[in-house]
Amino acid sequence: MHSPISKIILDGRVFYVKRDDLIDPFLAGNKYRKLYTLLQTPPNKLSKIISYGGTQSNAMLAIAAMCKKKGWEFVYYTKPLSDTLKNENNGNFYHAKNLGMIHVEIEQQFYKDFIASLRFNLDEKTFVIDQGGAVEEAKLGLEVLADEIRESGLHVKSLATPSGTGTTALYLALCLPEYRVYTTPCVGDAEYLREQMSALHEIPKNLTILEPQKKYHFAKPYREFLEMQQKLLSERVEFDLIYAPSLWMCLIEQTDEEVMYIHSGGVSGNESMLERYKQKFFK
Ligand SMILES: *Cc1c(COP(=O)(O)O)cnc(C)c1O
Repeated sequence: MHSPISKIILDGRVFYVKRDDLIDPFLAGNKYRKLYTLLQTPPNKLSKIISYGGTQSNAMLAIAAMCKKKGWEFVYYTKPLSDTLKNENNGNFYHAKNLGMIHVEIEQQFYKDFIASLRFNLDEKTFVIDQGGAVEEAKLGLEVLADEIRESGLHVKSLATPSGTGTTALYLALCLPEYRVYTTPCVGDAEYLREQMSALHEIPKNLTILEPQKKYHFAKPYREFLEMQQKLLSERVEFDLIYAPSLWMCLIEQTDEEVMYIHSGGVSGNESMLERYKQKFFK
């Protein structure tokens, strides 16, 4: 089933949104596309998934939802957490635990070596997903997305999706050479993003990295991000507060053609992000 496409008007301009956010409450957006190969794997082929990283991660929640569906055990390693986060009753970490995720804290000083040793002595029914999502496996899922975009029959020739590791934007541009793909770096600057992408594949000419006018730190609250997100909400599409706002700001400021924005998901993290906005701006 193809995810639907919505049309929105922003500052008098038409934008299309590929609604990958609607695929599932927890297993949506680009994490659904990246996990596509594993989602196609018969349940009895695996029994356990291991991953690691941050506790607000959208990938963590998507993997937890996948494992619940498949009946696979999910073990997730992080550095030690604060009691506040452990006791939160909303947000990605809370939902992932409710889906059966087994959370294990690793002391700071052992963390790096521990992660490096995860693949030692694995049995054939255990699969490790690196932070940011499975890379090679991601390709197939993005090909499926590319086919959906082509088959939509829309005249739009520009696409946009925000970047963390850049895996999604890169493979999308590779799969759709006849389209221009805009992205923006949300973790580090454009140079860092280019490095990350180049490690996977040569960056194709149809991929354009737009840089925000101001430096933003990853996952921090910014007033203009909230304003952008609320403006989009009034067009009846909810976007995440971490990745989407800066790309939308860049698109408005630096492009003028019709663009289809590929919704990358992450809406489940808004509850806990909004708490942080409240603490910072509305005390
Ligand atoms: C993970 C994520 C991204 C970044 O995807 P990459 O493939 O790592 O660039 C963008 N948006 C949202 C909402 C995400 O959860």
